Amino acid sequence: MLERIAARLAALRKADQLRDLRMPSGIPLSSNDYLGLAAHPRLKEAIAGALDRDSRFASTGSRLLTGNHERWERLEREFADFIGVEAALYFPSGYAANIGLLSSILKPEDTVFSDAANHASVIDGIRLSHAKRVIFPHLDLNYLEDALRSDRAAGERVVVVESIFSMDGDRAPLSDLAVLCERFNASLIVDEAHTTGVVGLQGRGSVDATGRADRVLATVHTCGKALASMGAFVAGSRLLREFLINHARPFIFTTALPPYCAAHVSEAIALTREADVQRAHLKQLSEYAHRRMRAAAFDTGNGDSHIIPVILGSNETALRFASHLTAAGFAVRAIRPPTVPEGSSRLRLSMNAGLTVEDIDALMEALTSVREAEVVRE
Ligand code: PMP
Repeated sequence: MLERIAARLAALRKADQLRDLRMPSGIPLSSNDYLGLAAHPRLKEAIAGALDRDSRFASTGSRLLTGNHERWERLEREFADFIGVEAALYFPSGYAANIGLLSSILKPEDTVFSDAANHASVIDGIRLSHAKRVIFPHLDLNYLEDALRSDRAAGERVVVVESIFSMDGDRAPLSDLAVLCERFNASLIVDEAHTTGVVGLQGRGSVDATGRADRVLATVHTCGKALASMGAFVAGSRLLREFLINHARPFIFTTALPPYCAAHVSEAIALTREADVQRAHLKQLSEYAHRRMRAAAFDTGNGDSHIIPVILGSNETALRFASHLTAAGFAVRAIRPPTVPEGSSRLRLSMNAGLTVEDIDALMEALTSVREAEVVRE
């Protein structure tokens, strides 16, 4: 087995696809701390305050056994109230939330329609459910409509998208999707990992901003990105919450996080709701960066959000760009298959509220000079 492991690693190395755990340094352009709240002193105070008050620092078991705590119950109510739904259930990560939700509600006789660019946690949740799958080309609603209409669409039908896609930075047309789902009696699930805290009133996310919350079965809100903490909420109806408590295996068969973590997430939600200035700055900065990228003719896909892909093609080119930019003082990483399709390796630049216009100007200068060096190489 070790020989095979070594051979598989060697194959990855040969294809320029080997990953490692390097620590990013430099101007942060890969961080998901979109609002720049990760080092906020109020988070530290909230954690320290909870540790002072709590009698135990470990949760000691699953939420269903000894691991529940008033802080978790309160946090879930707080989050549901924040985004204006009946109920929410907290999972220790967004990965666990998507797996738990999709693998529990779908049955093998159902059909799930999943955007080709959906996150690995959505893909894995669907795989675990054994439901029939239709992977529709990224944001191709005509394809989706045909598939929903076809005989293949047996059982319950569920459509899954991200509100802003993590590697492309473009947006799902949620109103159109809600109408389509209603027409074909399908349920809609929206992963709001990259919109929670960033989009909508106080950062409630895209579904709320589109006014379609009543048409959506569930939304998934990770807390490790704009919400400067960890874990994720599945938000929806009280019925769904009760179902997940009883069926979602990543919820049932795992030790709860310690109660002080709930105090962290709770304070992060409060900070996020207050962060209008950061949200406005992030929006302006993202628009500015897109304008500069367009003017310099970089391929940044079809998005307009705070996630800006710079699509370069081969793994080798993406790695070279990343290493030159890192040397120039920018924390960027090359994103390669299987995270993105073959031949579309890229830099994934994420804007955050701590950046300035001068940072973007310096980035553009570095990017264009790396590109000039590439032309000379060719
Ligand atoms: N969904 C999407 C769209 C994501 O981008 C991510 C994180 N990269 C997740 C889910 C998983 O969330 P977490 O990091 O909290 O496990």
